[in-house]
Parts: sequence; structure tokens; C-alpha cells
Amino acid sequence: MKIIVLSRNPKLYSTRRIIEAATERGHEIRTLDVLRCYMNITSHRPSIHYKGEEITGYDAIIPRIGASVTFYGTAVLRQFEMMRLYPLNESVAISRSRDKLRACQLLSRRGIGLPITGFANKPDDIPDLIKMVGGAPLVIKLLEGTQGIGVVLAETRKAAESVIESFLGLHISVLVQEYIGEAGGSDIRCFVIGDKVVAAMKRTAAEGEFRSNIHRGGSASIIKITPEERSTAVRAAKTMGLNVCGVDILRSNHGPVVMEVNSSPGLEGIEAATGKDIAGMIISFLEKNLKAGKTNTRGTG
Ligand code: ADP
Ligand code: MG
Repeated sequence: MKIIVLSRNPKLYSTRRIIEAATERGHEIRTLDVLRCYMNITSHRPSIHYKGEEITGYDAIIPRIGASVTFYGTAVLRQFEMMRLYPLNESVAISRSRDKLRACQLLSRRGIGLPITGFANKPDDIPDLIKMVGGAPLVIKLLEGTQGIGVVLAETRKAAESVIESFLGLHISVLVQEYIGEAGGSDIRCFVIGDKVVAAMKRTAAEGEFRSNIHRGGSASIIKITPEERSTAVRAAKTMGLNVCGVDILRSNHGPVVMEVNSSPGLEGIEAATGKDIAGMIISFLEKNLKAGKTNTRGTG
């Protein structure tokens, strides 16, 4: 196969591992900085150009699109889909999962366990919104945050009210969510490839922190997940339409709840915690599933 990996930096652990795994298996792989891809959007022969060169002749594309470049990145990926490259994850699936509100609504429609979540627009509705999600302590989230940035724990009703009010006053939309205190600062990252959880790790928040993100000082260890957690993760991935993703689950009193689905899950933590060759599994998935010109959407939606 001839593969493109869309990544801002080929030296990042995950990108490096993907390149290594593809090369080991005899594939040709090239990294493109998504922000340097520019496109000709024409009805007959859509194309992508890179530093003056037209990019042609590739079979598959592995998007590693950072949260800060979702808009441009998914536009570039859509263009590659129109050029009939097989995307590891489709642009529309990435867009679904990046918007936490849209993702929650889609998961709820499929009956997948979620923390009770509220969304409102007017300050007048805040007191009732807080009551609806079960009162303080509660979690307030930006719709497009990542790595724990933009996730706030409000311990009292007063704190919650003023934080939500401030965001709404700045015209920033936030989700208001039941705080799953019983998870004890730990969550479970299920790494899904295709219709299987291929690896799972427990992430535990640093002392005095409630967010378990590795970027916030969280630590990872291996964990055995239950069949219910396994099926929740697989259903969440399917709901988003992602072939490869990290599904983050909290163990709540009302069963496993999905916090988010990451479309560019990092490989470093999970490979270190489990000792598994996840990059190799990703390339094997492409080998098995690549059907040239058969993306599900061809960029629609
Ligand atoms: P991000 O996209 O920034 O990673 P998350 O929604 O995954 O945002 O939240 C970051 C972390 O905060 C989670 O990994 C988890 O440890 C903690 N967290 C988020 N939501 C809740 C919640 N409702 N209850 C308890 N902890 C939560
Ligand atoms: Mg997260």
C-alpha cells in the first residue's frame, strides 16, 4: 500500500510508530503536514497540493488531526476522500466525535451509558439546569476541549452557577455534567480497532487532580475490563463511525458511562502500559479493509 499519514510532526511518538509499523510491513508511507495541504475543489478532478507538488497515487490515509486544527484538517481529509483514498477514520466521523455535545446526543440516541449531561443557552435557565444534572459537585466542559483543558470541577452550586454564567456571558457554549465521584479520579481508555477493544488501560489522576489525562499528570496501568465495558466501547466507536479510536469510560454507580471518544488516540501510553504493538494492529486493519475508492461517505456530510 501507499499510505499518507496526516500529522503536524513526524517525530511525535504515535506518528513515528505508525511510520515504523507500515515500513516494517513493506508499505510506502509519507507524512504530510495537514496545514501545508492546499486543495483544488473542482467537480471533475479534485486534487491536493503540497509545497508545489500534486499529491497522487496513494491508497490510504491515516489522519492524526490535532484538536486545534479540526476544521482545516477535516476539510483536507474530505478532499482526500473525494480522491478515493481509504481513510482510517472518515472526516465526518472525526467531526462527530470532536464536538462533545453532538457526540453525547448520538450516544444517547443509541442508549449508551453517559454521565447525566445538560446544555443551555440563557443564564436564567442555569439553576434548573444544575438541578437537572443532580446538583453540585458537577463538571463543566467546553464543547471542543482536549487533554483535560477546558474541563472544570465545580464543587458547590454557587461556584457552578458563576462559572457557567461567565462562560455564557462570553458566548462560549459549555456542557454541564454529573460528576462521577465514585470513579475516584480514574477512567478507562479502551483502544478500539474495527469491532474489537484491542487494549485497555486505567488512567489515574495525579494527587489533588480529578482529571486523569496523561497530559495533566495522570498515570497509566493495565486493567481487565468487563464484558459490559467492552461492548459499551465497541458500540460507542460504531456510533461515531470511527474504525480506530480511544473510548474513555468511567465506572459509575449506574454502570459504565462514556465520557468521550477520541479519533486520534495517542499510542505512547497504551503501548507502554500494555506492551502491545498497537501501531502494527492499525496497519493490519488497513491491509484487511482497504478497498480503493470505497469510503463510506466519499466526503459527504
Ligand atoms: P478532554 O477531551 O479534555 O480529555 P474529558 O471529557 O475526557 O475531556 O475530561 C477530562 C478528564 O476529566 C477525564 O479523563 C476524567 O478524568 C475527568 N472527567 C471528565 N468528566 C467527568 C465526569 N463527568 N465525572 C468525573 N470525572 C470526569
Ligand atoms: Mg479525555
